[in-house]
Amino acid sequence: MFNKEFKNEEVIIRGERVGLGESKLIKIPLDRLPTGTLIEIPVYVFNSEKPGPTILLQGGLHGDEVNSVELVRRMLIDKSYKIHRGCVIVLPLLNIFGFLDFSREMHGKDVNRSFPGSKRGSLASRLAYYLMKEITKNVDFAIDYHTGGAQRSNYPQIRYTPEDENGKMLADIFGSPFRFGSKMIAKSFRNECFRYGIPVIVYEGGESLRLDEYAIQEGIYGTLRVLKHFNMISDDVLIPEEKKSILIEKKSWLRARAAGIFNAKVANGAMIKKGAIIGFIMDTYGETKFPVKAPKDGYIIAKNNFPVVNLGDPLFHIGY
Ligand SMILES: [Zn+2]
Repeated sequence: MFNKEFKNEEVIIRGERVGLGESKLIKIPLDRLPTGTLIEIPVYVFNSEKPGPTILLQGGLHGDEVNSVELVRRMLIDKSYKIHRGCVIVLPLLNIFGFLDFSREMHGKDVNRSFPGSKRGSLASRLAYYLMKEITKNVDFAIDYHTGGAQRSNYPQIRYTPEDENGKMLADIFGSPFRFGSKMIAKSFRNECFRYGIPVIVYEGGESLRLDEYAIQEGIYGTLRVLKHFNMISDDVLIPEEKKSILIEKKSWLRARAAGIFNAKVANGAMIKKGAIIGFIMDTYGETKFPVKAPKDGYIIAKNNFPVVNLGDPLFHIGY
């Protein structure tokens, strides 16, 4: 796997050069707010002298997925990107407009459904275009950080493209609590990178607009494991022993069979046994309780935290 010798080179982004042994913050002007304020996307480049892979670490492709921004930021503050081999390109927050609007999207469009993008398209489409053209072309592989949306919390998990052996290997190295191959989504970043042979793993942890300390930590530890694997950081960097990463082969959403108030009785990440009661849906004005039973043995890989449910709403994402 990765049948090549990695050799980082001078990085050129929007005409700015970052040579071997240099670090630089490059700001890519994107657009102005209607008030005239210039919006720039910060790109940190850490380029070391010794050869190694060039890795893109990307947070905030969805603007409201704040855990992804926070974990990338924390690694900046902790100087985790002080590498002595290869190159790390860090995008702490890609979708600044979504971040300001507390929205997944950028002006009503999902950037992660806008690839390959176009120079003259919507803002989301332009961002997708420049991300591929200016940044992704420089990298050997990428880690794209996300969270669950709509008050659904993802237990820390890595998703990779099943057809991509290198991505699968990166998922193994990352070592998050759960990992699984997941179908590519049309016009997504992972899909577009696959077309160019650039492996991307997607880390999902926590939910949008809510910090989740465990998800942030697991994301940092996984990233450090990858950096360590490629000898980019010192062996002295302490990473807690990874718990056994569980490979999920099948997964499905367990949905509400009645409307009402949902009470979960198991924690996110829990192992469940077929037939066990894992929650209740309560009749909002009465005493009736509808039990929610585990359909099979498995694991809770995501959990709905929104208490008011309608018929068919997702309750638990269960992995087998
Ligand atoms: Zn996302």
